[in-house]
Amino acid sequence: MRRVADRLVIAGVGLIGGSLAMALRARGAVGEVIGLGRSAENLRVARRRGIIDRAERDPERAARGADLVVVAVPVQTIAPVVGALSRTLPSSAVVTDAGSVKAPVLAAVERILGDTASRFCGSHPVAGTEHSGAAAALPALLEGRRCVLTPGAHTTAATKRRVHALWEAAGMRVEEMPAATHDRIFALVSHLPHVAAFALVNAVADADRHGGRRALTYAAGGFKDWTRIAASSPEMWRDICLANRDELLRAVDAFGVAVERLRDAIVIGDGAAIAAELARAQTTRRRIAPAAAPRPGGLRARRGARRSRGR
Ligand code: NAD
Repeated sequence: MRRVADRLVIAGVGLIGGSLAMALRARGAVGEVIGLGRSAENLRVARRRGIIDRAERDPERAARGADLVVVAVPVQTIAPVVGALSRTLPSSAVVTDAGSVKAPVLAAVERILGDTASRFCGSHPVAGTEHSGAAAALPALLEGRRCVLTPGAHTTAATKRRVHALWEAAGMRVEEMPAATHDRIFALVSHLPHVAAFALVNAVADADRHGGRRALTYAAGGFKDWTRIAASSPEMWRDICLANRDELLRAVDAFGVAVERLRDAIVIGDGAAIAAELARAQTTRRRIAPAAAPRPGGLRARRGARRSRGR
């Protein structure tokens, strides 16, 4: 495979940054990998697992001599990290990120890079799990999944080509869309479900306060399937809530309307209205994810399959 970088900097060697480095290494698509991080322990794990060649905690040292940079830190920290790296980054180097929110990150990075914003193209690898850190990185996490590029007005075709080649080398299906479109879509299909899952867990725990949390000990498939993602990193999701505020609020309001509609039908005991709501959802859900046939091996095999790679 053709090399996508001779010296790659991964800023934030966590689930996404670590998985990307592992995939590129496995395919021989990268020379040296430098990991920039804030936690010495996480960087030690990354070194031990062979994810990075060299660990740095100083952005200016990390960026020297690099030809490609991927910033995979929580969304609100992306622009400041790009700014710190850009002080010593060679002028030919290209920069991308992995953040789950695109328009505000793009605007902040463009402000920080100024005349050199042509070297930046936003990316969102649409893959993940509820686990964090270098210990959770997996070489196959990104394989076959979508990666959405969100170039800015200043991004050059050459920058876009290199960022496209980067994610493709990690096995991803790359596509492009405007940052604002990305943020509207992912508010609905990713950010809303996470917020709803966090809120659901709290609602049940609060309602069960006087029952000594006994209800949670009976939590089974339905509760656990829906709330798996509520085990995700609070820091990462705090940043997503703040950065995609307006689109997320629209999505939360739409969810509230749908819950209210169902609640109203339950209040008046309107069975036809309840069934109609449920049937509409069932049809949509089956269209996007046809029900899997039961596997040989039963429940344990199905649980194992569910635990992998879902976001
Ligand atoms: P993670 O917590 O596993 O990794 C983030 C890493 O960044 C951590 O190791 C942390 O120590 C490091 N970090 C934080 N601030 C830093 C700083 N100032 N300088 C250097 N390192 C710093 O998180 P992740 O799941 O890999 O997410 C990384 C980015 O990718 C986020 O922007 C997130 O929105 C995005 N993303 C996450 C997923 C997912 O499912 N987890 C999917 C797609 C995109």
